[in-house]
Amino acid sequence: MRTIGLIGGMSWESSAEYYRLLNELVRDRLGGLHSARCVLHSVDFAEIEELQVAGDWERAGEILAEAGRGLEAAGADLLLICTNTMHKVADQVADAVGIPLLHLGDATATAVRSAGLSRVGLLGTAFTMEQDFYRDRLASHGLTVLTPDAEGRAEVHRVIYEELCLGVVRDESRAAYQDVIGKLVAGGAEGIVLGCTEIELLIGAADSPVPVFPTTRLHAEAAVDAALS
Ligand code: GLU
Repeated sequence: MRTIGLIGGMSWESSAEYYRLLNELVRDRLGGLHSARCVLHSVDFAEIEELQVAGDWERAGEILAEAGRGLEAAGADLLLICTNTMHKVADQVADAVGIPLLHLGDATATAVRSAGLSRVGLLGTAFTMEQDFYRDRLASHGLTVLTPDAEGRAEVHRVIYEELCLGVVRDESRAAYQDVIGKLVAGGAEGIVLGCTEIELLIGAADSPVPVFPTTRLHAEAAVDAALS
């Protein structure tokens, strides 16, 4: 089994999910007392969030690249950035290490294509929904990506930073997300990418009329596939 390196803490609420999922998936695949070989570098998310708001992606990328180098030195054979948003600096991190970076957008797009879908709605932070880096990565796999209207994007973004990253899961926010999902489906979305690693703490398959693609789970599955191949 290869060792999975995790750049986490963005937020730790979803990193805890990654840790649980990786171990469950390895247990299910290998049985008995088997668990995932992994090393985690967990950052202080407040520092990263300040850099996001300031638009200082270069500095944020340096911090994550340094974390990646540390994980490689600690024995990681492959690397995960445990947040969709920070894939904005995925190239900077990949260039800093000699081990493969398993891109979250690729794992997600592969799952969407395997489900036979090509037109998806994307929920995530404003950075993920409004900038090119993530949508283009999905589009490079042949997907058409729809995003919510401005009001929907603002609400989805607010709930991530003010609630989910703080471990707060509210029924009202689930209803608001369902409203946004309904509009995306009315606009032609055949599936919904939960493109922020905390959203699956709030939204599951039963909350959507079309299939949802939970990026934390999909990323963890791809990592375990790679670690055990
Ligand atoms: N975990 C989130 C994501 O997947 C948001 C936190 C962050 O900005 O990194 O995008």
